[in-house]
Amino acid sequence: MPILRIALDVPLSTLFDYLVDESLPVQMGQRVLVPFGRKQMVGIIMEVIEKSDIALDRMKPITQLLTDVPPLTEEVLTLLRFCSDYYHHPLGLTVMAALPSHLRGAEPVTIKRERSYELTSLGRSLDLKEFPKRRAVQLRLLEALHEREMSIAQLRTVSSSASTQLKTLIEEGWVQTCVVTKAPKLVHTFNNAHTLTVEQQVAVDAITQAAAYKCFLLHGITGSGKTEVYVHLMHQALQQQGQVLLLVPEINLTPQLENYFRSRFPDTELVSLHSGMNDTERTQNWLKAQSGEASIILGTRLAVFTPLPQLSLILVDEEHDASYKQQDGLRYSARDVAIFRANQRGVPIVLGSATPSLESYYNAQSGRYQLLKLTHRANQQAELPIVRCLNTANVPLQDGLSPILLAALTERLQRKEQSLIFINRRGYAPVLMCTACGWLSGCSNCAGKLVLHLKDRRLRCHHCGHQERVPHGCPSCGNSDLQPVGLGTQRIEEALQAHFPEARILRVDRDSTRNKGSWVAMRKQIEADEVDILVGTQILAKGHDFPNMTLVGVLNPDGALYSADFRASEKLFAQLAQVSGRAGRADKPGEVLVQTAFPDHPLFRALRAHDYDEWAQILLTERESAGFPPFVFQVLLRAEDRQESDVYVFLKQAREMAKGLAMSVEIYGVVAATMAKRANHFRAQLLIQSDSRKSLQQFLREWRPLLETIAAKKIRWSLDIDPLDF
Ligand code: ADP
Ligand code: ZN
Ligand code: ZN
Repeated sequence: MPILRIALDVPLSTLFDYLVDESLPVQMGQRVLVPFGRKQMVGIIMEVIEKSDIALDRMKPITQLLTDVPPLTEEVLTLLRFCSDYYHHPLGLTVMAALPSHLRGAEPVTIKRERSYELTSLGRSLDLKEFPKRRAVQLRLLEALHEREMSIAQLRTVSSSASTQLKTLIEEGWVQTCVVTKAPKLVHTFNNAHTLTVEQQVAVDAITQAAAYKCFLLHGITGSGKTEVYVHLMHQALQQQGQVLLLVPEINLTPQLENYFRSRFPDTELVSLHSGMNDTERTQNWLKAQSGEASIILGTRLAVFTPLPQLSLILVDEEHDASYKQQDGLRYSARDVAIFRANQRGVPIVLGSATPSLESYYNAQSGRYQLLKLTHRANQQAELPIVRCLNTANVPLQDGLSPILLAALTERLQRKEQSLIFINRRGYAPVLMCTACGWLSGCSNCAGKLVLHLKDRRLRCHHCGHQERVPHGCPSCGNSDLQPVGLGTQRIEEALQAHFPEARILRVDRDSTRNKGSWVAMRKQIEADEVDILVGTQILAKGHDFPNMTLVGVLNPDGALYSADFRASEKLFAQLAQVSGRAGRADKPGEVLVQTAFPDHPLFRALRAHDYDEWAQILLTERESAGFPPFVFQVLLRAEDRQESDVYVFLKQAREMAKGLAMSVEIYGVVAATMAKRANHFRAQLLIQSDSRKSLQQFLREWRPLLETIAAKKIRWSLDIDPLDF
């Protein structure tokens, strides 16, 4: 009897063996229902073998072969095996995490197909000339169906009462429903909106000429028309009947992009895949991608695993964005997995960004990727904004706002133009302080501070969610004078409202956009010019186009300059370049005012000069001499537990084992995490790196099984390959 090796959603690094009846037509990648413990679980067939290490009498037969959806292809299975290997995550968990949640359950999935109507043979044999004239609508429907099968929408154009009349026709046995068989489209409509600029054309040509795998870095300043390059590449791919996968970092960006691409390719099937949609919708879209019916697939990171039989191009927009990295479970980088996938499939991939990640930039410099540059804004009149730094060491600030920034805001209000104040801290103030004894509002569960949210008079921890009422007096000395320290979006909103009582101010942060649809509504407000001043966090920095926005003020960016996280300044530059790109997109010139105590810092110099290359060069030099990525490859072993000492015992033991292997990797000391305590768990970590990815992987293959042997202590631990957060 053949034996199936099944991937199950179980945190063990093995597959599970089951017996299957010889007569069943099993296929690799197919879903099966199997008994596991007392439960029935859905899994995926990864291998069919003849002999198992498990004794025959201990193996159970599968419960059922699920045939409601087609099996995963060998290509997708290989991709998942690679991810499991590379990220050292159990194969079963990896495979099951890649499926839409409906497919993880045993409930049969029905593929919703558009229904069509056609004549039955009885209907075909009717002599329509003899058909009673008083049943005119039915006659018209029958005549229409004589030509070809039609959907209900099409039949409604014949008669508005088509639905009720069809019922009768079906009862008479003349008409029946059928499933639309969508033949792949040989031609598609392309609404070309722009003649490409020379740089855009060069980029499109280079990419379309790549016949096999090649990775391109499309480095284009904000507003240079990267999206337009994607559109033309899609057009080329569609002409070859190919499927295009476009990855975007943010759910928030998908509706906008979806509409944009739909308007350019009105009769092409396009689907979105992201966690903001309900399971049914997501499953249906996934199935449309799998069947090849959808040609354009727009999705956030998980979409990288979608089966795409005709895949011919992958686009990764805003490739530098940290949201491509999953922060728990399978800690994969969707960008890196996409590159692997393109390579495996032998198709080109384009990484687009105004501020590429240093990893990608370095790969482009060394020639592994081909660099394509867009150095001008596509819209001739839209010039890059003028960036100025306001030295906060010399000017008095009023509620965090300098006189020059206030004057610039006044000017915009008079000219009826929009402004944006960018501050990366939500809430009212980052902390509450006692003026007598210096007590700070700390979280009882975390090493962090409680953020003051004045609107509902609460102190909230942004790490564990803990919240409490604002105390009347200092919990330490009883003094009643507690002062908010630092600035958050709410406090700035309040200060601006006090300064400009007439202005229409809108705050956009995680608190104000928590409800579904609220950000969409806000964007409409902004576009309709119903907002004068926007106050917001990074949500506002990405990809949005507000033509009437001419001023961007940046408050308090300095923290990132001296952060313990070596990527903080890289991220800050990307964020500020993005947010600056919001100013002056159309025919109105933009201005960016950055309030900083360090106007001479190289980051701000490069930002003023719009010189990403200069900045990247500085960072690369720094990273090379410090021995940081992209010059080395890293893995972080994280551990956490309620018992602080257990965490350190575990990590120290892990470190000894690593040393014992005596392999060519660099092993650092055990240190507390940046956030040393979160939700009552103490957190620490161990960093290991190597200048060779291969050596690091070899080491991990030896080390990981050893870790399992000490894990008996019930410590929560995880390996993070190519970590972005420390
Ligand atoms: P990016 O994604 O690089 O920030 P977009 O693709 O959003 O830039 O383009 C910025 C603006 O320039 C958009 O309004 C777009 O319609 C316009 N645009 C793009 N390409 C062209 C072109 N070749 N000619 C004229 N306008 C263009
Ligand atoms: Zn006090
Ligand atoms: Zn907390």
